[in-house]
Amino acid sequence: MAQRPSFPARMDLSSRAAVAPKNIANSAVHTRARGQNDAKSGLTPAAQGHGLDSQMVRERMVKKLAHQGITHPDLLAAMGAIERHRFVDSALVNQAYEDTSLPIGLGQTISKPNVVARMIELLLQGEGAIKMGRVLEVGTGCGYQAAVLGRLAREVYSIERLRGLHDKARGNLRPFRLANVHLLFGDGMQGYAKGAPYAGIIAAAGGSAIPQAWIDQLAVGGRIVAPMETAAGQQALVVVDKLERGLKHSVLEAVHFVPLKSGIA
Ligand code: SAH
Repeated sequence: MAQRPSFPARMDLSSRAAVAPKNIANSAVHTRARGQNDAKSGLTPAAQGHGLDSQMVRERMVKKLAHQGITHPDLLAAMGAIERHRFVDSALVNQAYEDTSLPIGLGQTISKPNVVARMIELLLQGEGAIKMGRVLEVGTGCGYQAAVLGRLAREVYSIERLRGLHDKARGNLRPFRLANVHLLFGDGMQGYAKGAPYAGIIAAAGGSAIPQAWIDQLAVGGRIVAPMETAAGQQALVVVDKLERGLKHSVLEAVHFVPLKSGIA
């Protein structure tokens, strides 16, 4: 297993060391015995020590998302099921369900829950309805959004250009056992041709234009949802629909994403 030097030492893992030693490094409150139903079980005493009743806090987050205008029932269910606190550093666990972006290492951030939900909902509203389709995610980061997508799309290809985060996401996602989520290390500006055509492409990093590779790898009827720098020099959410008659661009609300960079590191 890859080393994760960026993780601070954990204080509460002695009770589970014998259960799942492989996951020790990457989940501060992943303290349940294997085989338990993660979504339904309560937290162990160690996790309660963090002052976090994960299921209840997630339900509150989902209610808030619904209040903010997220309507897709499968999406709300997925956001309620995926344990966001497992994707953030132990020092930030108490903020995992707040409407805030959080650092995930190497200068990158995990998006706010409502931004994740908004972007996925836009993807689900495309003509290609990702429910049964393949989705490409550019910018795996900690793997949280990939996990949510994994419950909604048939196959998810998620690509990350920073080796450290790619490895971290691999560790974070392992306990979820999402066999349809494929993590790739590479430059997502090139897309991932082997998985194409995609019903949806979703980017968690913003550049000055939508890369041609994404357009080429998108199925007709498919949709790209990505942050992009607009003419005014600000970043906005952009939706590109690939229709029979050509591309349709829509520029939506302002957003703040980390930059889309070429190459790997
Ligand atoms: N969806 C992520 C958010 C990660 S932040 C999550 O749930 O955590 C955006 C990520 O995009 C960063 O990790 C950054 O390294 C990555 N990124 C930026 N440019 C990229 C590129 N060309 N290819 C792949 N990943 C890229």
